[in-house]
Amino acid sequence: MHWRRLGGLRRWLSAPSVPAIRRHMFDQGLTVLRIRGIPIRLHVTLLIFLPYLAYLAASQFTFIAASLEIPREALRLPPLAWGAILAVGLFVAVLAHELAHALVALKNGIRVRAITLMMLGGVSQIERDDPEHEAWMAFAGPLMSFGIALGSYAAYRLLPAPAEVGVALLAFAITNAILGVFNLLPAFPMDGGRVLRGLLHRRLGRARATRVATAIGKAMAVAFGLFGLLSWNLILVLIAVFVHMGASAEQARSSTRDLLRGLPVARFMTDRLGDAYADESPRAVAERLLRHNLVGARVIDDPRGGEGRREIGVVTVWDLARQLARGAEAATVGAVMPVDVPRARAGDDASGSLDALASGEASAIAVLDEGEHVIGLVTSAEIQRALALAGALGAAGAGR
Ligand SMILES: [Zn+2]
Repeated sequence: MHWRRLGGLRRWLSAPSVPAIRRHMFDQGLTVLRIRGIPIRLHVTLLIFLPYLAYLAASQFTFIAASLEIPREALRLPPLAWGAILAVGLFVAVLAHELAHALVALKNGIRVRAITLMMLGGVSQIERDDPEHEAWMAFAGPLMSFGIALGSYAAYRLLPAPAEVGVALLAFAITNAILGVFNLLPAFPMDGGRVLRGLLHRRLGRARATRVATAIGKAMAVAFGLFGLLSWNLILVLIAVFVHMGASAEQARSSTRDLLRGLPVARFMTDRLGDAYADESPRAVAERLLRHNLVGARVIDDPRGGEGRREIGVVTVWDLARQLARGAEAATVGAVMPVDVPRARAGDDASGSLDALASGEASAIAVLDEGEHVIGLVTSAEIQRALALAGALGAAGAGR
């Protein structure tokens, strides 16, 4: 499965700290390797889930062995051992599925932050949705799953192998085929829903395509949920919850984007900014921001006391809070300051800044003046505050 951009876990607008929570969830993963520069992470929930998956795979193995009339005595490894091998194999296959999404993204010049393997499958954190390439990007994953299914089925038919290896190959083929088909269901934010939105985009435009795709996604989620409850399939119920949340979050994001379109970034900017020297401790800066009720600070590098003074970045209260929670006591603000803070000009269209915040990558957008000085920040809290008023005023206006 695959929820790009995980608006999925929660409506990102519902709390200013949601990007932080989301980042926390995925950054907890252990980076095990890098492929084409993309960190591949294993999430802790995977460890809990793998034994269960091994158990399921073992029953599938036993069932297929029985259907092929292979006697129990002919097996050299117990079904549970095959279950464990198949479970690990499945996660390698899920990684290949995610890599297929990621490689299409990279080919279109879209950055991929990370791939995380977790309980319900894989998640590719892809920098931004690109409506033009979305259908292909989304289709590449299931295509890879079908390719793996076909490959293992061919191996089962063509290779001379012991009977139990054949059973495992057949089980692997079936599981990957199911994975491909399931992901192609039009339940946004699953792959099929993204393919649908990508296809609708050209005819309906982004906003309407999103409305249709997320409405179908929510309906499918209800269907999954009911079916899961009736068949006691807990995994399906969990998937239903994630799909519903993901579809709602995307719908919320899309209508927010509509509201922001045409408005300048300056409207949503706060200038409650202080200064911090790069060699100060995060704690000292955090205390100062709290005392003066500030949202963030320009970070200033001042090696020769005034002469070489220059702004090297910004740090927000959320960045500092995260650092302090990690116990990075010895570090300096210059060392913990986020790199790659998204930038905007005061006159830029505000809907563009939404993407950077919604991706959960940044806690704020730095607004720069002509001289590249930071004059303010846009945070999801600021956008939320302005939209709450705009929404209330709109509703009052409509009610009159
Ligand atoms: Zn996928």
